[in-house]
Amino acid sequence: MDLLKKTIEEEGVVLSPSVLKVDGFLNHKIDPILLDEIGKEFAGAFRNLGITKVLTIECGGIVPAFTTALYLNVPVVFAKKAEPSTMRNPKTCRVHSFTKNTDYTICIEQNTIHEGDRVLFIDDFLANGQAYLGIKKLVEDCHARLVASGFCIEKAWQPGHSILKQDGFPFKVLASIRHMSPEEGISWNYDTAETE
Ligand code: 5GP
Repeated sequence: MDLLKKTIEEEGVVLSPSVLKVDGFLNHKIDPILLDEIGKEFAGAFRNLGITKVLTIECGGIVPAFTTALYLNVPVVFAKKAEPSTMRNPKTCRVHSFTKNTDYTICIEQNTIHEGDRVLFIDDFLANGQAYLGIKKLVEDCHARLVASGFCIEKAWQPGHSILKQDGFPFKVLASIRHMSPEEGISWNYDTAETE
């Protein structure tokens, strides 16, 4: 997706060979035009899959998941990273955080996703695939089906891409980074199809 790649090139900051800062447009200050385009792109890719819910994890995934859900005309649910005392019947799963290098619990109220739901997972990044694995387990625990996933950005050398490919569900990446470093900047993957 050219607009996303251009924005990453102009405003993204490569903090290290494995961490890209996108606070200027994606997960702190938000560029509404870009996020609207991202939603349109994901919705177009998954329109024929009978999606009934879009699911993400707070907080980086919420806005792209929201714009996608708006174009698919379905509800969006975000898994919380702390269990609120108001949650009656939570479904939980432990996830390893890529950026913080610690484990945390994600949770959703049981009745937000239910049997028969066809779920699309949307997130800002695909790195080691741990958020995806946690979401997959939550969806299974709710007796629903995870039918596809969409990631704004992937770092293609990290294990997430292979995990998704092995699982065999469709997934779409809008900007696939082949390599990055603070000195050399970002190089893109042009040789892989964006939708697997
Ligand atoms: P994974 O679960 O695939 O290992 O990591 C995905 C999650 O880690 C995303 O939800 C995202 O919040 C965070 N993440 C992974 N890599 C990066 C990165 O390079 N920059 C930022 N800002 N977040 C990242």
